[in-house]
Amino acid sequence: MFRTMRKSQRQLPPEDAGAILREGSSGVLALSGDEGWPYAVPLSYVYTGGKLYFHCAREGHKLDALRREPRASFCVIAQDRICPEKYTTLYRSVIAFGRLRILEDEEEILRAITALAKKYFPDETEESRRQEIARSRNAMYLLEMSVEHLTGKAR
Ligand SMILES: Cc1cc2nc3c(=O)[nH]c(=O)nc-3n(C[C@H](O)[C@H](O)[C@H](O)COP(=O)(O)OP(=O)(O)OC[C@H]3O[C@@H](n4cnc5c(N)ncnc54)[C@H](O)[C@@H]3O)c2cc1C
Repeated sequence: MFRTMRKSQRQLPPEDAGAILREGSSGVLALSGDEGWPYAVPLSYVYTGGKLYFHCAREGHKLDALRREPRASFCVIAQDRICPEKYTTLYRSVIAFGRLRILEDEEEILRAITALAKKYFPDETEESRRQEIARSRNAMYLLEMSVEHLTGKAR
């Protein structure tokens, strides 16, 4: 059901698309929002084991949206360089499609939070990571998006 890229010469090999997802620091999650209005919301994330993980507050627009419709897409831009002499933009980006779910299993939750913490705060000690997770754990939900279709494109 997923489309092929029209300008296929610009399509990145799957390993490059995966690298963009692994190395990016934020992306935009696109959801079916209220009353048919698409809702695109920027988020931090981590990509591991073919899945994307997000953390968020326990209420809000995006949670209402994903409860109604778990299918979503997530876009990460790795490069956006305007090239005036060529009247174009040199870019690298990926788009992932998949289904979101709110994690409920305590082990899965801990794994996801730890992966996020290690990505964003790699220099933190084990002990301070453990304390921070214990402090914030009950205020957040962890979301998992299983990536069903991933494409990368570059110009
Ligand atoms: C680079 C970056 C990384 C972020 N990382 C995270 C993260 O990891 N986890 C997380 O929970 N949040 C993160 N945020 C904040 C995130 O974009 C949302 O603001 C937040 O998650 C609340 O979403 P919500 O749908 O619950 O908001 P709600 O407050 O329920 O949204 C209500 C309305 O507020 C407006 N709104 C909400 N968010 C934004 C926004 N970012 N900019 C402009 N208008 C907005 C929209 O009109 C929306 O319909 C990040 C933001 C940025 C820019």
